[in-house]
Amino acid sequence: MRKRFCPDCGATSKPFIENVCIDCFQKKNKLLMYPEEIEVMYCRECAKVLRQGKWVPPSEDHLLELVRQNIKSKSLDHLEFDVGLEPQDDGSSVASGHVKGLLGSEEISVPVSVSLEPRETLCRKCSLVRADYFEAKIQFRFESKDKNEWQKIVDEFESRLDELYRTDSLAQVAKKELISNGVDVRVGSKRAAKTIVDELSKKYRIRPVTSFTLAGVDKSGRTRKNFTFLLRFNR
Ligand SMILES: [Zn+2]
Ligand SMILES: [Zn+2]
Repeated sequence: MRKRFCPDCGATSKPFIENVCIDCFQKKNKLLMYPEEIEVMYCRECAKVLRQGKWVPPSEDHLLELVRQNIKSKSLDHLEFDVGLEPQDDGSSVASGHVKGLLGSEEISVPVSVSLEPRETLCRKCSLVRADYFEAKIQFRFESKDKNEWQKIVDEFESRLDELYRTDSLAQVAKKELISNGVDVRVGSKRAAKTIVDELSKKYRIRPVTSFTLAGVDKSGRTRKNFTFLLRFNR
């Protein structure tokens, strides 16, 4: 049997890929293909990041997943990623580490470094709320004339809304209006509004009055409703 011989470096004892030795193959072929820079769209209001068409809470896992999706290889099989994130002073991050893969039957480790560049935008839900979109109105009505008491309850409502906002970008106040016997608060998310209305009703032992008006028809032909929750505080 004839011994194999690398035409580029003369090696005979190394593993061969496509007629050259593995080292020469690596020199000639880009084993990994990836952009030097990956744009990360994030919402300047709620900080969620866009991942495969969905807005998700920011996390290292999501960013690393984005990096993995952008690294491709034609010659390596069974890619394994050992990549970590290093935040930079300018707000970007660098993902660096190694990608292991099989070149034929040889395991190869290739160093990688990708910079993640944040791009500020508004997610769909935050831009809706910006445009005064709302699904629910809460009418806070008070017997007391003490506006500090009103404020206390509205503050309570808003701090709960902030908590729900982490998972529901529509959980935002779209508009707040002071009227003679209370406060009207418009909220982007009906679900968040209902959750907090239920909590406050229980805590203050009041019965909310719910009503709705038709607010149009959405793209899929379903009627859209605006809910109104009336909360009367009698103390
Ligand atoms: Zn060679
Ligand atoms: Zn947002």
